Amino acid sequence: GLIWLDGEMRPWREANTHVLTHTLHYGMGVFEGVRAYQTDGGTAIFRLEDHTDRLFNSAHILGMKIPYDRETINEAQRTAVRENDLSSAYIRPMCFYGPEGMGLRADQLQVHVVIGAWSWGAYLGEDNMRCGIRVRVSSFTRHHVNVTMCRAKANGNYMNSMMALQEALRDGYDEALLLDASGCVMEGSGENIFIVRDGVLYTPDLTSALDGITRRTVISLAAEIGMPVVEKRITRDEVYIADEAFFTGTAAEVTPIREVDGRTIGSGSRGPITERLQGLYFDQVHGRRDA
Ligand code: PLP
Repeated sequence: GLIWLDGEMRPWREANTHVLTHTLHYGMGVFEGVRAYQTDGGTAIFRLEDHTDRLFNSAHILGMKIPYDRETINEAQRTAVRENDLSSAYIRPMCFYGPEGMGLRADQLQVHVVIGAWSWGAYLGEDNMRCGIRVRVSSFTRHHVNVTMCRAKANGNYMNSMMALQEALRDGYDEALLLDASGCVMEGSGENIFIVRDGVLYTPDLTSALDGITRRTVISLAAEIGMPVVEKRITRDEVYIADEAFFTGTAAEVTPIREVDGRTIGSGSRGPITERLQGLYFDQVHGRRDA
């Protein structure tokens, strides 16, 4: 395959960086997760502008200056999909500081941009899209930097996610659910969460969760079908007694949750509202309805 690195498409094996790459040591980098889907009009990247805007905002929060304009980054993503002959793809843009200096005080670091694209099926498993996943509340909570910097999709914010996910997988679950320091439900390791109760959709407000692009899409789909959506602080027990629950994310798309901490959620499989929103989401990404 080919990878876009600093303005050029390079063979997979040649898209390298030095071991003293600053971001590898200190985690100051930003990235995106984007998907392209097959549509009647060919392959289309879903919400490309939104992802690129968030990438630039993430970089701005970190004080990192991306040495390209938005259109170049958009076009690079289209090129990465096209030149790898992908009809559908997961796309990973990342901006990082190079090996031009070491130490926390390094100055004159250059910002490099890499964009990889590959074929990726259902992130949490094809069967789970129908049956739902099993989740555990993590013993790791979102800490101060995550909470105050949650609008940045930054590499450094993911140590927390990785600790939570490893713990969940080790204990035989499919995914972790992270709480904030006050015990309220925040998000999965790479997904936003929604619950359904008495026909109303609830999702945590954005005080400490990423402003997910799939979350935004689901909120607007719910509005279109006249389903009320409430953004508020959600407690752990509200999740336990929800009629339905699901995760949203570019990778996870709309994934039903059937169990949390050994408590069955609703009927213990994909609920009807989840199924409806999931269907609408797939119609939207495949261009089978107006964007
Ligand atoms: N929350 C976290 C921590 C994430 O990493 C992601 C993935 O990008 C999401 C939520 C979902 O965001 P999106 O729907 O934009 O992919």
